[in-house]
Amino acid sequence: MLFDSHNHLQSGKFGLPVDVLIGQMRDAGVTGCVVNATREEDWEVVRALAQDFPDFVRPAYGVHPWFADTPKVGWQDRLREILIHDPSASVGEIGVDGWVSEPKMEIQQLVFREQIKIAVELERPVTIHCLKAWRELLDEMDQAPAWPKKFLMHSFGGSIEVAQRLLKRGAWFSFSGYFLNPRKAKVLAVFKQLPKDRILLETDAPDMMPPASLLKFSLGEGVNHPANLKAIAEAFEKEAGQGTLVQIAENVKRFWEF
Ligand SMILES: [Zn+2]
Repeated sequence: MLFDSHNHLQSGKFGLPVDVLIGQMRDAGVTGCVVNATREEDWEVVRALAQDFPDFVRPAYGVHPWFADTPKVGWQDRLREILIHDPSASVGEIGVDGWVSEPKMEIQQLVFREQIKIAVELERPVTIHCLKAWRELLDEMDQAPAWPKKFLMHSFGGSIEVAQRLLKRGAWFSFSGYFLNPRKAKVLAVFKQLPKDRILLETDAPDMMPPASLLKFSLGEGVNHPANLKAIAEAFEKEAGQGTLVQIAENVKRFWEF
């Protein structure tokens, strides 16, 4: 079982009809994926994908930190509603990002906090984006009255020290093909030290390009094809050791069954 735990099939960047894209994923052995919304404007697109490809697309709804200043009044109720409508939906992509200067961290944290609250209330897993904001994320965890039982640190690029603190809170981590680039060797080294039963795989397509040598599918400059997951998985297993993919298939069931 080859499962893409994080992508954005709703993106217009692919330049291919989504049924063609999903057909190519299936041909490459991918059995399903979690499609993450990034702002309220794309929740309906993600919902339509989940409806059209019920055996392949699991939806995640949320507001990404880059868009933390976009939600309109009442968005929390609408998020709750769309999640309740589909019990297989999780909360994502949400988080905090210190790499961008806008929206302000304060606003990002406020929107993040609201979404954590909703995830706890509805008992849904959460997919977290965190870049250069580990202190802020750990602060949120310390201060939250309750934290989701399952949370996935997507494209986790933190240190082993941060990973250990997150592990204590029950974190899961997903590895993306981008980390197979030689300049990301440090991140790969961190993943090799993580407990194998906490690792998932993702493409984050159309983003997070794997190194050119691993590209089996090409969509033009800088656009990652989600069918590259197979090559990413094989390359990761070479690094992390035989049996890794069997373990990850097991992990997919444990994390995404709810
Ligand atoms: Zn993403």
